[in-house]
Amino acid sequence: MKRVGVLGGGQLGRMLALAGYPLGLRFRFLEPAAGSPVSGLGEVVTAAYDDLDAAVRFADGLDVVTYEFENVPVRSAQALAERIPVRPPPGALQVAQDRVLEKQAFEGLGIPTAPYMPVGDRDDLESAVARIGLPAVLKTRRLGYDGKGQVVLRAPAELEGAWARLGGKPLILERFVDFTRELSLVGARGTKGETAFYPLVENEHTDGILRLTVAPAPLVSDALQARAEEQMRALMESLDYVGVMALEFFQQGDELLANELAPRVHNSGHWTLNGAACSQFENHLRAICGFPLGATEALGHSAMVNLIGRLPALGRVLGLEGVHLHLYDKSPRKGRKVGHVNLTGRDPADVRARIERLEALLEEGGRGEG
Ligand code: AMP
Repeated sequence: MKRVGVLGGGQLGRMLALAGYPLGLRFRFLEPAAGSPVSGLGEVVTAAYDDLDAAVRFADGLDVVTYEFENVPVRSAQALAERIPVRPPPGALQVAQDRVLEKQAFEGLGIPTAPYMPVGDRDDLESAVARIGLPAVLKTRRLGYDGKGQVVLRAPAELEGAWARLGGKPLILERFVDFTRELSLVGARGTKGETAFYPLVENEHTDGILRLTVAPAPLVSDALQARAEEQMRALMESLDYVGVMALEFFQQGDELLANELAPRVHNSGHWTLNGAACSQFENHLRAICGFPLGATEALGHSAMVNLIGRLPALGRVLGLEGVHLHLYDKSPRKGRKVGHVNLTGRDPADVRARIERLEALLEEGGRGEG
């Protein structure tokens, strides 16, 4: 029986544990907050991520450590890696935590990405805007997620306000991409270098937060899928990666521009819990434990709808056909992901009809609860 340590105790940790018990795995979490979504799913060490003494206690007796939260301090991951295997390796965490390092990693491997410039001070912002042009997106290099820490700049007059909001932290200015749609790829790499990739999926965001994933994405050519896989494989090899990775893209015509990589299981892979032969959670665990990877093909068509900010009327959601409810045991708060619903169907039109029924119900629930 393998003992898996997880840095972070959010919904991703919860779903990892739920996928790992049938494989005979046991879990221990390091999580700063009490009452997290992993409560009751394993031992929880409640301590700050940078508390190295607590990290040593956490590591005692574990076989492998992974993370479900990508802003874990790299130093803590490195300290753990001196004692036991940490997968994915801390180097992947380091790249994913800094948007400039991430862009440089893309460029170094010839992976197309939006033009960008690092911004340290107000003068840098002026020269970056002169070089990149407007519209552009100003983002914090670190600690940005779900659209937080970023501002779209459309006119020179908006620079002052954006600087007032974000200035003082290391920033990056990126060209605004007028994309056709957003796609993402989730894949896994095992300890022997073997890889497996799920089909590309299509994602819709509202206010920077993922709201809907359609899987597989419609109208994806074999060539596009192959290109996305090649890019992820190159990244994985360069990082000596083990585990599940997600790569988000903007599609513009036939072009794919890489936006962001996640060194962990990803929200746009939640559909795999009900729509693929082996889920991203199980595949992550298989990879980090040195087991063979599971099958990644889609079983028909599916979609994932995030439950954001409030819970719907559960009885009514469960009354829909082809519905799979996944709640995270989190109290609702504005902008907070409290669960997701996977929808499975015979064909894309069937899934689309189910998305519409679910969305109508979520709207109603919202009105009912004020
Ligand atoms: P990120 O935190 O980089 O994943 O950004 C969150 C969302 O903001 C993306 O999924 C896009 O919808 C949007 N976004 C981010 N960067 C850009 C960009 N350079 N051009 C256009 N939209 C963007």
